Amino acid sequence: ALIRKRLVIGNWKMHGARPTNATLLTGLCAGVGVAHNCEMVVCAPFPYLGQVSGCLHGSGIGWGSQDISKHQQGAYTGEVSASMLSDFGCQWALVGHSERRSFHCETDQLVAEKAAAALGAGITPVVCVGETQAEQEAGLTQEVIRRQLQPVLALGAESVAKLVIAYEPVWAIGTGLTATPQQAQDVHAFIRAQLTELNVPQVRILYGGSVKASNASSLFAMSDIDGALVGGASLVAEEFLRIAAS
Ligand code: PEP
Repeated sequence: ALIRKRLVIGNWKMHGARPTNATLLTGLCAGVGVAHNCEMVVCAPFPYLGQVSGCLHGSGIGWGSQDISKHQQGAYTGEVSASMLSDFGCQWALVGHSERRSFHCETDQLVAEKAAAALGAGITPVVCVGETQAEQEAGLTQEVIRRQLQPVLALGAESVAKLVIAYEPVWAIGTGLTATPQQAQDVHAFIRAQLTELNVPQVRILYGGSVKASNASSLFAMSDIDGALVGGASLVAEEFLRIAAS
């Protein structure tokens, strides 16, 4: 059987400044040894990607963007294309984060197109899915996840094999509420079943939503949880490293 390497991705969101970034990145580089067997990636705001790439060079820690355009080039003011990112060695991109879906009206179809654009430039898209609290309370979790994944899975096995999926229940993002390991596992197993049906069971599925050093191990103990997408706790080097070491 293929082994799915553990992966922990930090999403800085719209946080950072050059001096604090430098402290954080230096801390990550110094401590990366504690997290052997775990791949680490930092997703920073666009203006800081150059700094991140420079500081992480040679550390083994990857870096990526928090969004990517579905367009290749042209009159799309404010957008950043996959080829521009790969021009600078970017290897990862978050797509369809719930904050982009809710504040920027990103649809399931657009998210799939962004994933395809990333793949076209050799960038690994981390496709985020997750239900809102109202949807969860209405028992619609599986229906929502299936709908969000549908256009992504429609890209075909060859493409899907190269991406990563992050399950982030919206009610758990930045709220301090974490899904229980069993709640998360149940959704991960549901996603895994669809990947298996497509013949790509080895695709990694990350959990996201208030992951901290104190709850990471119990989440990572579940059979279909392959790592984490971490927001708040990725802004402190020691905390992020402890998650990756879990
Ligand atoms: C996220 O931004 O993807 C996230 C999971 O945030 P937090 O860890 O802060 O809940």
